[in-house]
Amino acid sequence: MVLDDLGSSLRGTLDKLRGKSRISEEDVEEVVKEIQRSLLQADVDVSLVMDLSDGIKERALEEEPPAGTTAREHVLRIVYEEMVDLVGESTELPLEEQTILLAGLYGSGKTTTAAKMAWWFSKKGLRPAVIQTDTDRPGAYDQAKQMAERAEVDFYGDPDEDDPVAIAEAGLDATEDADVRIVDTAGRDGLNEELIDQIEEIEAAADPDRNLLVIDAAMGQSAKDQAQEFEESIGIDGVAITKLDGTAKGGGALAAVNETGSSIAFLGTGEEVKDVERFEPDGFISRLLGMGDLKQLTERVERAMAESREEDDDDWDPEDMLQGQFTLRDMKKQMDAMNRMGPLDQVMDMIPGLGGGIKDQLPDDAMDVTQERMRSFEVIMDSMTEDELENPRKIGQSRTERIARGSGQPEDRVRELLQQHKMMERTIKQFQGMGQGDMDMQRMMKQMQNQGGGGGGGMGGGDFPF
Ligand code: GDP
Ligand code: MG
Repeated sequence: MVLDDLGSSLRGTLDKLRGKSRISEEDVEEVVKEIQRSLLQADVDVSLVMDLSDGIKERALEEEPPAGTTAREHVLRIVYEEMVDLVGESTELPLEEQTILLAGLYGSGKTTTAAKMAWWFSKKGLRPAVIQTDTDRPGAYDQAKQMAERAEVDFYGDPDEDDPVAIAEAGLDATEDADVRIVDTAGRDGLNEELIDQIEEIEAAADPDRNLLVIDAAMGQSAKDQAQEFEESIGIDGVAITKLDGTAKGGGALAAVNETGSSIAFLGTGEEVKDVERFEPDGFISRLLGMGDLKQLTERVERAMAESREEDDDDWDPEDMLQGQFTLRDMKKQMDAMNRMGPLDQVMDMIPGLGGGIKDQLPDDAMDVTQERMRSFEVIMDSMTEDELENPRKIGQSRTERIARGSGQPEDRVRELLQQHKMMERTIKQFQGMGQGDMDMQRMMKQMQNQGGGGGGGMGGGDFPF
């Protein structure tokens, strides 16, 4: 997404303000130009861009920076606030029993989004079900069923029935036990009468609590027309914007939806069921500006921790790790948890200070290497004894040789792993020194920010974000 560039270019510009306590008109002019360039490239409507930059200019020059803030912080905060305004609010979505109807054009990502949303709700502790009513597209049933399986959620569809309304009705009966029923529908190339008739019929039969419109981010500004048309036909409560990973026009779509008075509920960032996030304007914009998205990151970390705990048949507790020894077994658990958080580069985007900055400087395959290292570390640890996992100090040359043979990995890799463990142990020790050993995310993040802010570090060297 072109908007990703906004963070790095803007940070560069803002960095020139470092050390200054007053801002000149030229300074502001330069910042505003950067923003205009990025937003226009991201297909945000010209008049919106102009409004936004006028607002930023005016505020940056007229408002008094609060005592104790630098010129840089002052401008950054104004940019942040104006950008949050540009994308609008998040669709309200209570975690309660409900039926949600998904509408949208052919290929916009409805079926994928249905499974993604179901997965998301399941992680919130609700029981979701996907009901597939698309009888037009060959393979729609199989696709939806497979996605629901990947999301590990209930599914209803009927490949032998060709009346979508009948499927919707039977589906709602069949999924009575579920908390959140997500009704997927067929699309058309354009919003024509046929589509409207069909979606209105399904809507009448399913009586959903919410209608969500699914829009491909590549629509850019024209997302506005779509949102307006669907609003007029069935009324929409929120929008899911998909394929933000694949297009430069995401910013245009986001701003356009807000312009119509609709709000955004979800963002789709890939083809897998986990590639979804709830739209949180604050977090989204802070991430964009390279301020990191603490909330998303905290959520992911907590979810990953909870899943690790669930799967453990022993009583490993991440909190123990902060109390006493940090063993190889702890490290393994942490790596498992990291894997569960999703692709490393996405996680890195959420870490303040790391966001954009360092990642941009890495060669493209640096992330893969890191993932690959993690996998080989896991293989190596599988070849260790319980005793070795608990007491890595005991691993000398002869054990290293044995472990390397057993795991089919080079000895250097084994040493690398032990090195990595020592490094992480040192980091953990620091946290231990800071408090009573409680998992205080905020504090951990702060620490990371300080470490990452220097810009050096480099994941390529194999540092884990924590
Ligand atoms: P539908 O016709 O509206 O049901 O759309 P689908 O859910 O079948 O999606 C159409 C295509 O877009 C499929 O190939 C999906 O894998 C892909 N797709 C959907 N959402 C995303 C996304 O967020 N990112 C990417 N890269 N691809 C997506
Ligand atoms: Mg579909």
